[in-house]
Amino acid sequence: MGAFALLALAAAALLLAAASPDSRPAAQAGIHQAAARTAHALPYRQRPPPAAQPVSRVPAGRSAIRVPILMYHYIRYNPDPRDVLGFNLSVTPSDFAMQMDWLAANGYHPIDFDDLRGYLLGQAVLPERPVVLTFDDGYRDLYTTAYPILRAHGFKAVSYVVSGFVGRSTNVTAEQVLEMDANGIQIGVHTVSHADLTKLSGGGLWHEVYDSKVALEALLGHPVLDFCYPSGRFDDAVVRAVQAAGYLTATTTQPGVVHTAADRYVWTRVRVGGGESLEQLVADLGQPEPAERVTAPPAPQQPLHGPPRRPITLPLLAPPEALAAGWRPNEGALP
Ligand SMILES: [Zn+2]
Repeated sequence: MGAFALLALAAAALLLAAASPDSRPAAQAGIHQAAARTAHALPYRQRPPPAAQPVSRVPAGRSAIRVPILMYHYIRYNPDPRDVLGFNLSVTPSDFAMQMDWLAANGYHPIDFDDLRGYLLGQAVLPERPVVLTFDDGYRDLYTTAYPILRAHGFKAVSYVVSGFVGRSTNVTAEQVLEMDANGIQIGVHTVSHADLTKLSGGGLWHEVYDSKVALEALLGHPVLDFCYPSGRFDDAVVRAVQAAGYLTATTTQPGVVHTAADRYVWTRVRVGGGESLEQLVADLGQPEPAERVTAPPAPQQPLHGPPRRPITLPLLAPPEALAAGWRPNEGALP
């Protein structure tokens, strides 16, 4: 059969398809339904580097790397001038936007703990000047104020959520946690009630460390692997519980920017407080981890939270250490 005959056959097939009564409307209706289902999930992806352009990366294989983990709490104008503690935990929205502008303009790349764990496991390289933006406690202004600014910059971040506070008027709602999780904000765990873990033992400790994990995993439908000690309070028993509960990392409030796999349950952070000057923050970031320039093909488009997370199957098996300590599965549900 000649090329002409093939073309004629193809044209006839096209005409038939166009004439068939409702094949097209049905397909279009399917597309519209799919669009309606996903209308809330706005596209939020990092731009890949241009083709075969030189890019700067932190090459694989370093066991200790400088990655400042910034620690934020409120992003707000502190409502009570006499509240010194509140002021020190509050970065104003304009200061926060300025800090994000500065990071973007100076070549910093916010990553999350999937990225950092992946690097330390030797599974991934990091972009140059990596930094982690963490927000403790899950205050409502994380969603209303910080999240839009982060999205405008295409930045990833990490939110350490107190599971028992979800849905309070001062804190994020379950729907907001779900939306942020789907759009570049990695969810970490900050206990059930922001308790001082060094004052707890046995079932009480396990309730704070493990029920919070169970509750957030049930909400999100995937593992939640990163923990943050409330008020930076931890001791050996607390670290052992966090480890046995299945977390892979935990952060403190102790200052520092160098991290290794070996100290992943006591990672240090850089506190960003109220009224801090940009110069102070820049000084706290310190020298960036040395990067090397490579000519690389464009990276495949990835969701902002990195490689696909493993789905989980509920119910989870409780750690034997938890059961031995008297913990019982009872209060894991979100309020
Ligand atoms: Zn906290």
